[in-house]
Amino acid sequence: MRNYFMLKTLILSFLVLSSHMKRSQFMIQDYPELVKYFASKNPGHLLLFVLPLWYLSSKYMLLSEAYSGIIFVAFIIGAIYWTFLEYGIHRWIYHTHFKTRILSYFLGSFHLYHHKEVGDRRVYNSGFLMIYLVTPIVTSPILLVTRDLGIIGALVLGLSSAYFFYECVHFLIHYKKFNSGYLAYIQSYHFHHHDKAPNKNFGNTSHIWDFLLGTYDERYKTYKMPESSEKSLILVKKRS
Ligand SMILES: [Zn+2]
Ligand SMILES: [Zn+2]
Repeated sequence: MRNYFMLKTLILSFLVLSSHMKRSQFMIQDYPELVKYFASKNPGHLLLFVLPLWYLSSKYMLLSEAYSGIIFVAFIIGAIYWTFLEYGIHRWIYHTHFKTRILSYFLGSFHLYHHKEVGDRRVYNSGFLMIYLVTPIVTSPILLVTRDLGIIGALVLGLSSAYFFYECVHFLIHYKKFNSGYLAYIQSYHFHHHDKAPNKNFGNTSHIWDFLLGTYDERYKTYKMPESSEKSLILVKKRS
């Protein structure tokens, strides 16, 4: 029932949008209120969606009679599957300049707009409607592989945990400057993508898929964040 309501809201939003598209490049510039359903300022908003999913998937995983090694492997495969989705969505959806105006107007509001206005917090993380929209698409291939509820639970738990980790990482690297450790590496990697090479380094939690699929640019290792990017960080903006 709730999904039906969501779908109806979504279709209505698209219909209203296509008849009211204004001159701006992205929907967020004309309809900031609408974008709040698809994007959010921090990963805390996503817990409302992720926590029930973790509860359900853990429940089925723990009730499973499958060998615990298989459950563990399924969890890891779910997490790796997310890292590929993270790369694929960023490279092939968010960075595509769609010829269809409604698509570029809507989808551009989340990532191409983020590139243009890196200091605008409103699109740092996904919103609940975007997750509802994407979840059935990304989880349905799992049903083609297995119908075992315990294994599905482990795959979904791995997938959603890696997804939430990604949202936290993206928020944190836009929050403050890191000088060492994992977050410093990802911050250089991601800001190098923002500032120097938008067609390279699409990974947001690692460089594995870039390396495997030919979009790895190792110049991020010598990247120095310019003042303009440093000023866009949440903590720096708060202090000034
Ligand atoms: Zn970013
Ligand atoms: Zn990008």
